[in-house]
Amino acid sequence: MTYDVVVIGAGAAGLMCALTAGYAGRRVLVVDHANKAGKKILMSGGGRCNFTNLASGPANFYSANPAFCISALKRYRPEHFVELVDRHGVDYVEKAPGQLFCADSAKEILRVLLTECDWAGVEIRLKTSIEAVERAGEGMRLATSAGRIDTGAVVVASGGLSIPTMGATGFGYDLARQFGLEVTETRAALVPFTLTSQWKARAEALAGVSVEVAVSCRGRRYREPMLFTHRGLSGPAMLQISSVWQPGDTLAIDLLPGLEAFEALAAARRETPRRRLSTWLGERLPKRLAQALIEWHGDDGVLAEYSNDRLAAWAERLGDWRVKPAGTEGWRTAEVTMGGVDTRSISSKHFAVTGLPQLRFIGEVLDVTGELGGHNFQWAWASGVACGIAL
Ligand code: FAD
Repeated sequence: MTYDVVVIGAGAAGLMCALTAGYAGRRVLVVDHANKAGKKILMSGGGRCNFTNLASGPANFYSANPAFCISALKRYRPEHFVELVDRHGVDYVEKAPGQLFCADSAKEILRVLLTECDWAGVEIRLKTSIEAVERAGEGMRLATSAGRIDTGAVVVASGGLSIPTMGATGFGYDLARQFGLEVTETRAALVPFTLTSQWKARAEALAGVSVEVAVSCRGRRYREPMLFTHRGLSGPAMLQISSVWQPGDTLAIDLLPGLEAFEALAAARRETPRRRLSTWLGERLPKRLAQALIEWHGDDGVLAEYSNDRLAAWAERLGDWRVKPAGTEGWRTAEVTMGGVDTRSISSKHFAVTGLPQLRFIGEVLDVTGELGGHNFQWAWASGVACGIAL
C-alpha cells in the first residue's frame, strides 16, 4: 500500500501534521499502536486541555538548541489555533493569564482534530504497531502489524516517555538512533516532587493545602501556587521548577513572595506588639500551614518578645525555606519529557533530518520542552503545521 506520508503517532503533533499535509493534497496515513487517538489530549489540563498560551514564545521552551523552535512558533501562533477552535464552535476559558482551556471537555479539541483530518482525507489506523522502518529508494518502507507500507515520507510524532500506561514509548528515540541521530538525555519534567521521610510526613499532614510561593533552583524562579500532597510537593510552582531540578539539588521556597519577610515581621512587632506570631502568620498563609509552621519550629509568642535574631530565623523559614526533594514521581505522572531527539540534525523549517528528507520528527519526541501553561500543545501544533506544509 502506498502513501505520500505516514505519520507515526495519532497525538497532537501527528494529527495536526496529517491534516495540514492532507489539505495540501497529500495521501496521508496516521498509524498508532493505541486503541484511541489523542489519549494525552483527553487527559490534559485535568480533562479540559490547556490547548495554548496566548503569550507562547521561544522563551517558554527548554532545549539544548534554543533557537530551533523560533521559526515554527513564529509561523503558527496561538491565535491561529484559537481561530481553528473558534471555527468549530469550541467554548473556552482563560483560567490564568494567557492559558486557554476548554470550557467543557478536552474531547472538543480531539473532535476538532479528527474532524479536520476527516475533511482533509487523512486515514487513521489504530492498534497498529511498527516493526521496522527503513529507506526504500527515494522513500521509506514500514513493516507493521497490519503489513508492509510504502511511503514517500515518514513523520515521527510518537511523543515522549511520560505516562507509559497511555501508550508512551521510546520508539522515536530508537528510530532516531537507527538513522544516526543523537538523542539528548531524557528526564521526567513537569512532575511532582517526593520528599524524604521527615518532610514527607509533614507534607502528608498538609495534603490538599495550596499556597502561592516563589520557588528557585538553578537560576530559574517561578511564582505560582504550590500544593502539599500525600507524597510531597506539587502544584504549578513545583511542576515548573521540576524541569530544571537535578537529583541532589535543593529548592529555595519563598512562602511570602512579594514580601520582605524580616522587614514585614519587624514592622508588625513595632505596630502590633501584642499580636501573636501565629495570628500574623495565619493572616498571610493558609491556616493549616501557619499552624504547622508554628508546631514544626515550636515557637510562638507575642511579637514584642521577639529579638531581631528570632525574627531573622523566622524570616529565613518563611522567605527562604530550603527543601531537598528525595526525587520526583517520575514517568508515571510527569506531563512531559525533557530532552529527546537532538534538533541539531533537524531542519527548523521543515523538520526533515539533514540529508534524509523522507524522515521527519515533530512534537514532544524532539528536544524541545515547554513550560507549564499550554506551551507544549502550542509546540505540537506549530511543529505539526510547519512539517505538514513542507510535505
Ligand atoms: P503525544 O500526544 O504523546 O502523542 C504520541 C502518540 O504516539 C500517542 O498517540 C502514542 O500512542 C503514539 N505512539 C507512541 N509510541 C508509538 C509506537 N511505538 N507506535 C505507534 N504509535 C506510538 N500540554 C499542554 O500544553 N497543556 C496541557 O494542559 C497539558 N496537560 C497534560 C497533562 C498530562 C497528564 C500529560 C501527560 C501531558 C500534558 N501536556 C499538556 C503535555 C502534552 O500532552 C504533550 O506535550 C503533547 O501531547 C505532545 O504531543 P505529541 O503529539 O508530540 O505526543
